[in-house]
Amino acid sequence: MRLSRYFLPVLKETPAEAQIVSHRYMLRAGMIKQNAAGIYSWLPLGFKVLRKLENIVHEEQMRAGHVPMLMPTLQSADLWRESGRYDDYGEEMLRITDRQGRDMLYGPTNEEMITDIFRSHVGSYKDLPLTLYHIQWKFRDEMRPRFGVMRGREFFMKDGYNFDLTKEDALHAYNRHLVSYLRTYERMGLQAIPMRADSGPIGGEDTHEFLVLAETGESEVFYDSAVTDLRFGDRAINYDSHEECAAVMQEFTTKYARTDETHDEALFNEVPEERRRVARGIEVGQIFYFGTKYSEAMGAKVQGPDGKVVPVHMGSHGIGVSRLLGAIIEASHDDKGIIWPEGVTPFHCGIVNLKQGDEEADAACDTLYNSLTALGLEPLYDDRNERAGGKFATMDLIGLPWRITVGPRGLKNGVVELTSRRTGESEEMTPAMAVERVAQIYKGLTVRGI
Ligand code: ATP
Ligand code: MG
Repeated sequence: MRLSRYFLPVLKETPAEAQIVSHRYMLRAGMIKQNAAGIYSWLPLGFKVLRKLENIVHEEQMRAGHVPMLMPTLQSADLWRESGRYDDYGEEMLRITDRQGRDMLYGPTNEEMITDIFRSHVGSYKDLPLTLYHIQWKFRDEMRPRFGVMRGREFFMKDGYNFDLTKEDALHAYNRHLVSYLRTYERMGLQAIPMRADSGPIGGEDTHEFLVLAETGESEVFYDSAVTDLRFGDRAINYDSHEECAAVMQEFTTKYARTDETHDEALFNEVPEERRRVARGIEVGQIFYFGTKYSEAMGAKVQGPDGKVVPVHMGSHGIGVSRLLGAIIEASHDDKGIIWPEGVTPFHCGIVNLKQGDEEADAACDTLYNSLTALGLEPLYDDRNERAGGKFATMDLIGLPWRITVGPRGLKNGVVELTSRRTGESEEMTPAMAVERVAQIYKGLTVRGI
């Protein structure tokens, strides 16, 4: 993309309404625009990152054997009356009446709708196990929408639902989700720690939240610092193996890590004092096992191998895809702007032309641009007729992890400069070498956006 043809409405001033750094930078970098409290337009740069996150979530869910689909944002109130949640959900539910006077709602989540789909089509244990998921906009009329996309009213969420014959199978689905979530967050350059949590209005027995540690997080968390040393990494896993998934669950949830809702002071005090941490975190996902709560209320049953008809065991599993943009920025920025992890960056590399209009500099930039593009990479070429200082400030603000700087002086010696956004370190090299280095950095990171 050439910046002169892009839409990147960067703000010079820091917007007064933004209280936390991710909100400030998302507004300043021209990623989002608020349209009403907690409701945002995703401008091109923000949309690009959102799509990348969505793609990572899809890839990891499908890898775990979960099946993608799409349900609508608007739902009929009838299903929610069946489960009893139409009255229970309260003011967070946006209720709408259509022209026929029918009660509708903008879905805050989809347990009822998916249970209805399931009961309409599945009647035998032979069709299980089954996990269906979608990534769709949700609406919750939050009392205090704030912090930009972190606590929106309209937000983008992955929600998945497992249907299993037995509790044991459903707990395997729970563990499988935990593993797939660990992989998902790590690919986004994030450490999200599974913490024992409270199930709240969804109801159920088992639940973990995934938290990204950050001072600006809304949740208070208590943990053994040894949990921060755990990494899933690129180890191979057989998602069908109950034992393998259970072992990962054990590994990641045995050490003390809880939100304030389930915090147990006595247990916490058993952690060696020098490893006890009290901090804040951002909830970026949650997994639930809730047994037969919805399947019994809504008649989602299957015939088992013994001929008996039984309600299925279910769980639901969410990832806050739009909130993740905020969480990533909270975890990765400096005083100049965002620093995108390579796995989610909107463009792989910036190209800054120090002297637009200089024949050689323009030609060198075009060559770099074409070579990177030919390798399947997406550069953002700042081809505007602007001063170098302004170009650097924009690149630093929008946070591309790598930048190639091209100027007539370097070109006289046959070199350009490759700069790391994270360390600020620069290295001179030939343009061909710079292309090779950037290609090397992104090798294996195949996610494309839009
Ligand atoms: P919270 O406690 O933050 O209100 P929740 O526990 O009610 O969230 P879930 O039902 O678990 O939310 O939804 C799954 C995920 O969706 C959450 O882990 C979170 O990342 C994200 N999410 C929930 N509410 C919002 C919101 N208002 N804005 C953005 N993301 C949200
Ligand atoms: Mg939650």
